[in-house]
Amino acid sequence: MKQTASALPDSAAIAPSDYVIIGGTGDLALRKIFPAFFYRYLDGQVTDAFRFVAAARKTGTLDEFIAKLRPFCEDAIASCQDGEAQFAQFMKLVSLTTLDVGTGKGGEDLKAFIDERISDARPVIFYMAISPALFGASCQLLQKVGLVTPSARLVVEKPLGHDAASAKAINDELRAVFDEDSIYRIDHYLGKETVQNLMALRFANTIFESQWNNTSIDHIQITVAESVGLEGRASYYNHYGALRDMIQNHLMQLVCLVAMEPPAQFQANQVRDEKLRVLRALRPVNPEQLSDNLIIGQYGEGHVNGTKAASYETELGEPSKIDTFAALKLYIENWRWAGVPFYIRTGKRMALRASEIVVTFKKRSHDIFANGATSSGDLPNQLVIRLQPQEGLRLQLISKQPGPGGMRLFPSELNLSFDDTFKTRLPDAYERLLMDVARGNQTLFMRHDEVMAAWDFMDPIIAAAAEKAPEIYPAGSFGPAAQEQLFDGTNAGWQAPVIDKE
Ligand code: NAD
Repeated sequence: MKQTASALPDSAAIAPSDYVIIGGTGDLALRKIFPAFFYRYLDGQVTDAFRFVAAARKTGTLDEFIAKLRPFCEDAIASCQDGEAQFAQFMKLVSLTTLDVGTGKGGEDLKAFIDERISDARPVIFYMAISPALFGASCQLLQKVGLVTPSARLVVEKPLGHDAASAKAINDELRAVFDEDSIYRIDHYLGKETVQNLMALRFANTIFESQWNNTSIDHIQITVAESVGLEGRASYYNHYGALRDMIQNHLMQLVCLVAMEPPAQFQANQVRDEKLRVLRALRPVNPEQLSDNLIIGQYGEGHVNGTKAASYETELGEPSKIDTFAALKLYIENWRWAGVPFYIRTGKRMALRASEIVVTFKKRSHDIFANGATSSGDLPNQLVIRLQPQEGLRLQLISKQPGPGGMRLFPSELNLSFDDTFKTRLPDAYERLLMDVARGNQTLFMRHDEVMAAWDFMDPIIAAAAEKAPEIYPAGSFGPAAQEQLFDGTNAGWQAPVIDKE
């Protein structure tokens, strides 16, 4: 029977849980975490039986908290007729409590607070929306006051370290208190609908799997372009740069999902085992050949979307050698991918905000149309997976132009726009991930050994990059011109994402 998208359930019921957000009054909590819970509330997935506790050093009153949160929930409120009433109802589930994880002040109060309000043995989830420097102290405090029970879960997110040694130290601190099965390391890219769709595309369809290898694929490109600059995150960003902030985590995870072998089952550890195998199969980049494999850049002044944009150093207020752009050529040394280059790049202040994966297939071994046909037929097939915005899949095929004027070939597209097909709001990645924690499903979260394998691969690259001066690129471009060198010896080049006017 033909199944239409709208006939499928939007969301599955989840047993009530309790979330304690440590750092619950900060930017991450206000911009991402609470609006995601509210959307899930509107959808009926979060019910009135859930509880949310925002714990922070200074909380203020609930009314002040609501006033700060409200602007970030405007879209959700406007999305339904009784949005105002729903927001007021949702806020009744939220409490504030003061807690200083550095000194331990407020720890006993938090325990008493939870004991008083939560009578059954349902999971209490601790979300660390604080600096990773406080993760260890927070875990120890939770343990000391008796909040680390068998049903407790822990959520953390990047930056999980600055290099392999600091990542190991963070992992050790978490694992000294919580079991690995209770730790949820967020990489929000894994919560994006299109990223999950990549797994559906590969493992729920038979037509691609037989082509998904070095016999059929010429190369793969992944571009994650941001149009924003520093956005007030100077003190963080200037110590991290694009290689640490984006490539080590988000882009490495995308490489894993594109390249992994099919797991026997779609289950957390099986998926994570396969991703780990990809990371361990990456060919180490030899520092002597670094310039053939890595390009770093930093934005100078320019124009983004028609508006003048200052250089990175001007925004920062001091000279800096940090990379705001990085492009890397990778090889995965296994049977499936031997010889297929993966080109990955990310940058700030690029021409537009867009993330996409482009799989370029090999050209035909013999062109029967070469003789006399008016042909653009040497173009390869391409599969473009657009992660954001305008999420969807496009398959470039070569077809015949209609008309009697000979065999004129031109590239055309099969286009699966998620907007047009599913006609529904695509939930933010956090909505999916926060509900998965409540479900106890770790499939879309990183295991400690994945994080470590990614750092082990990146550490020497980052160390070698620190010796290089980044090439300045104009704000509003797609990065430094030198990035084309990565394609040396091939006819390919970077493909800039194209966004339709919205
Ligand atoms: P923030 O400075 O806006 O908020 C920090 C929160 O932690 C505040 O609620 C503050 O009261 C609380 N806090 C600070 N010290 C504390 C202590 N000793 N005890 C208890 N609470 C304390 O920071 P943020 O932007 O929300 O980021 C928090 C963490 O999340 C950072 O590590 C950041 O890198 C990471 N992160 C943030 C974002 C984002 O979009 N903001 C995205 C990904 C990761």
